[in-house]
Amino acid sequence: MTQFDVVDHPNPTPAERIAEVLQNPGFGTNFSDRTAVVDWTADAGWHNARIEPYGPISLDPAASVLHYAQEIFEGMKAYRHADGSIYTFRPEANAARMNKSARRLALPEMDQELFLASLEQLVAVDRDWVPSGEGEALYLRPFMFATEAFLGVRPAKEVSYRVIASPAGNYFGGELKPVRIWVSRDYSRAAPGGTGDAKTGGNYAASLAPQQQAIEKGCDQVLFLDPLHDNAIEELGGMNVFLVTNDGRLLTPQLTGTILEGVTRSSVIQLAQDRGLRVEERRITLEEWDRGVSDGTITEVFACGTAAVITPIGELVDGEKTIASTGTGEVTQAIREELLGIQTGTVEDRHGWLHKLA
Ligand SMILES: *Cc1c(COP(=O)(O)O)cnc(C)c1O
Repeated sequence: MTQFDVVDHPNPTPAERIAEVLQNPGFGTNFSDRTAVVDWTADAGWHNARIEPYGPISLDPAASVLHYAQEIFEGMKAYRHADGSIYTFRPEANAARMNKSARRLALPEMDQELFLASLEQLVAVDRDWVPSGEGEALYLRPFMFATEAFLGVRPAKEVSYRVIASPAGNYFGGELKPVRIWVSRDYSRAAPGGTGDAKTGGNYAASLAPQQQAIEKGCDQVLFLDPLHDNAIEELGGMNVFLVTNDGRLLTPQLTGTILEGVTRSSVIQLAQDRGLRVEERRITLEEWDRGVSDGTITEVFACGTAAVITPIGELVDGEKTIASTGTGEVTQAIREELLGIQTGTVEDRHGWLHKLA
């Protein structure tokens, strides 16, 4: 396995301060002491794998990521199990997806081995930052960006890969509160042939104005529609969407190239099939959603992704019209509990999804 050089840390965070952070981790504001770094150049490929103290990055103002957004990222969680060991969930899927994103953004691919080594060796030295409370985790954020100082438009010949780690609290304090969703009619998230199925910062930049609109309308998040058929649903800005029917089916929009294939999405599909639900990946219109909720054939709607795992969707606001809430249903709750149980080691990992980090 690739050995990362561990650079000495001049002043690691004292144990009392870490304990204080882990008391109330929040999300994405506190970071562990170190970061994994690997450099890439067109000539040398991936090299100089190291674990450095966490800190500001020195970047040339002409670095192409700052101008042309040649950047991708991943997101996963490391959970502390009852015996103290630390596991992450299906990292091979994240490695494969990062390479898929890399191909789309003309960034270099990385061997799964190196990707996994970066996670394992960062978490090994920063293991004290993994919280142990219910539903809490160390959020891992691998990312890759173009560092070459060059204003011409072409794929950069110098790239940096990094992993940072941030303690994350239980997103909803244990209680499942349905979110209120705004249907974006003014903006699309992705277009056919675009970057919708790559995990790249630009998609998120494009989602901020619609997200702002949603907040103004008293909603929590945005639902994006199919850019070609504006009555079919796609996904939220960073989560996939599922509908549960009263006759044992689970519906989710099919992957058309404009939807990001979530690892949580794939896992939910598997767990639903395991419990005998029939999964349909297909076009789902807003009319079908509206009609189904009104006549009782659609009983639950939820969104899923690594950060919040599974979140029930309550009201859906489409301009002046509101599709009523389905509340938090049994299927949503059961799949969520099973998935979290597997991730945290309290439910048997029958699909071999866990990967030990430390
Ligand atoms: C990351 C992401 C998801 C969820 O993917 P997971 O692997 O389940 O975390 C869904 N949609 C978008 C646009 C994303 O970027």
